[in-house]
Amino acid sequence: MNTANFKIMRLRLEKDHKRLTEQLEQLKASRPTENRREGSPFGKREEEAAETAELENRMALENRILGQMAEVDNALSKFEEGNYGICEGCGQPIDIDRLEALPQAALCMSCKAAQAKNAKTK
Ligand SMILES: [Zn+2]
Repeated sequence: MNTANFKIMRLRLEKDHKRLTEQLEQLKASRPTENRREGSPFGKREEEAAETAELENRMALENRILGQMAEVDNALSKFEEGNYGICEGCGQPIDIDRLEALPQAALCMSCKAAQAKNAKTK
């Protein structure tokens, strides 16, 4: 494995981590306050429905960011452990092309494919 490439991966992951942290902070900063309920008595139901939908969107977005962060954190911790680029499924080195496309990849192509297949049959 090429250590120069790994250095680039690490930099990319650290950059990703920073970007995701900023996204999360932005999301939290823009969170609407809870007691904005008192409005017009008209169309309250619609207002609430819109609020619920917005909240659900936010939560979905937040979960997606947190999920990505966990993957990036996981990959970064592997540099410390010295097993970055090793598949978590089979212990074989992950294809460098795959890592270049997805630096936080934890599984090689065949393990990922097997996982996707399992998820579908669940
Ligand atoms: Zn594998």
